[in-house]
Amino acid sequence: MLGVSAENIFCGNSSDEVLALAFQAFYSGKTNIITPDISYGFYPVWGEMYDVGLTFAPLRQDFTIDVSDYANSNGVIIANPNAPTSIALDICDIEKILQQNPHGVVLVDEAYIAFSHTESAVRLCNSYKNLLIVRTFSKSHSLAGLRVGYAVGSTALIDGLKRVRDAFNSYPLGMLAQLCAAAAISDTAYLKKTTEQIIKTRKSTTNELKSLGYKVCNSQANFIFMQTPNAAAMYNSLLENKILVRHWKKERIANFLRITIGTQEEMEEFIKCVKRL
Ligand SMILES: *Cc1c(COP(=O)(O)O)cnc(C)c1O
Repeated sequence: MLGVSAENIFCGNSSDEVLALAFQAFYSGKTNIITPDISYGFYPVWGEMYDVGLTFAPLRQDFTIDVSDYANSNGVIIANPNAPTSIALDICDIEKILQQNPHGVVLVDEAYIAFSHTESAVRLCNSYKNLLIVRTFSKSHSLAGLRVGYAVGSTALIDGLKRVRDAFNSYPLGMLAQLCAAAAISDTAYLKKTTEQIIKTRKSTTNELKSLGYKVCNSQANFIFMQTPNAAAMYNSLLENKILVRHWKKERIANFLRITIGTQEEMEEFIKCVKRL
């Protein structure tokens, strides 16, 4: 379905595990590995753990990635769509980043790709041997508890991951998880139905918030990122109403909340709550 051979795929016990192995295999001890200043919170954790010299490229004011910041590095790590901003890069921009970084491993974390209109970068793996795509069953397949993730890339990169894995745990993925993941891949109709529903609910929720005067990023993920003057207070009020969203006390995003798209009914409840506040 991805149009690659088995030797171009590496499976792991969650994409977090695959990502951690990739950090160890390709970035350990290196400097100038570029990643956005606002992205998945685990990247700096692994950076620290594996002695990686991360260079944080600031997102633009509107939280889009400026691809010109990603050049001449020893590696690039980006989530596409990005988290928690929800914004996606076009495949042309991914290719530009690859052209600007011929030496290091360019890792694209596609945890949310199924919710986006942007094309997956898997197609570029044949042309760029230094491109590694990481995917998960946790988001689009709603199987976070199964803990299955995988990487797609050239045999050189996949072999690199296997070498690190084999020094740590040769068989990380249990038999039941393998069977369930295979069944999930086959059920394309269910995936299509659920992702389409989430995209539809995302659109109506975004429109509601915009009509209330909130700024909402152009989401290509299963969550939205909205600006609100007093995000911490809104977080607490929502929590009192048994609605759990995410807020980071972090510069640049302290005035934002990340809201996962639930069912249509849940999101209507959320909007009602926002209106009351
Ligand atoms: C959720 C998430 C992951 C981790 O997914 P698991 O497969 O459940 O470990 C990795 N990267 C990003 C950007 C995510 O949002």
